Amino acid sequence: DAALYHAKDGGRNNYKYYTTSLSGKTPELLNLEKSLRHALEKQELTVYYQPRVNILTGQITGMEALLRWQHPEMGVVSPSVFIPIAEETGLIISIGEWVLRTACMQNRAWQQAGLPALKMAVNLSPKQFRQPNLLEVVSQILAETGLAPEFLELEITETTAIEDLQFTRTVLEKLQQMGIDIAIDDFGTGHSSLSRLQLLPLHNLKIDGSFIKSLTTDVKVAHIVKAIVTLGRSLGLRLTAEGVEKPEEFDFLKSINCEDVQGYLFYKPLSAEKATEILQEDRG
Ligand code: C2E
Ligand code: CA
Ligand code: CA
Ligand code: CA
Repeated sequence: DAALYHAKDGGRNNYKYYTTSLSGKTPELLNLEKSLRHALEKQELTVYYQPRVNILTGQITGMEALLRWQHPEMGVVSPSVFIPIAEETGLIISIGEWVLRTACMQNRAWQQAGLPALKMAVNLSPKQFRQPNLLEVVSQILAETGLAPEFLELEITETTAIEDLQFTRTVLEKLQQMGIDIAIDDFGTGHSSLSRLQLLPLHNLKIDGSFIKSLTTDVKVAHIVKAIVTLGRSLGLRLTAEGVEKPEEFDFLKSINCEDVQGYLFYKPLSAEKATEILQEDRG
């Protein structure tokens, strides 16, 4: 966790100070919590978009919405730092709703600009997933933005999914009936098995980046990834590999029939403006 904060311009000397204080509820963390409460209204939050690329055609088939927080003094705060705070304080409900609305609006805007249709993937935190009015919120946002449900994919982590399989199944079945795709995020980290997950109406499995990292150096990991892809595809799922950074990783994933990749090898998360440019180039 060396680079939790990327201090901008004047905020450089804050860096060391804040990275050492993440374990307990130190004054710094409480401060962060306080400023997060106002981050939305102060327009410090933005959504970045990371393209998902088809491994065979090289075309962009989707985008993942990833939240960014530009803190006025500290610079860019990583979501892996502030999402847990948002989750704990309940702020994730309003923030998550805003991300969903922004991402759906953006996807609709791209469609109206005549760009090729894309799947927009939005992360749902555990608390969001369990909020009683999730389905109303999602359908309200789709109605509001005019985005057709088939262009939305919701990501829940493997851990969220397996915590209460019966509950998960009920919610996912309703989302599926609405026409929305479901992805299991960070697959492989929750130590569940596909035989349990196959009870759920899923469309996409996202293999966690930690597996991809050791793919080309650890032959056991390569076997595991190959098994996940083979079994997943035989169950009719799309397979997306996260965190692909090296050409060797890409080559291996291609050789085992993985469908999509997401990672720095292709694109980092991009501002809406940059993502728009990339899509215009990708079309041409
Ligand atoms: P995630 O959903 O697993 O997202 C993938 C993370 O991997 C992103 O980190 C992305 O920038 C990063 N990544 C993508 N390609 C590469 C690569 O090739 N190499 C490396 N090293 N990293 C790569 P990010 O944006 O910092 O987000 C971290 C986590 O924060 C996300 O993990 C997700 O759990 C959470 N998060 C981000 N935005 C949201 C949001 O809007 N709502 C919720 N609930 N959680 C979010
Ligand atoms: Ca994700
Ligand atoms: Ca992930
Ligand atoms: Ca993750």
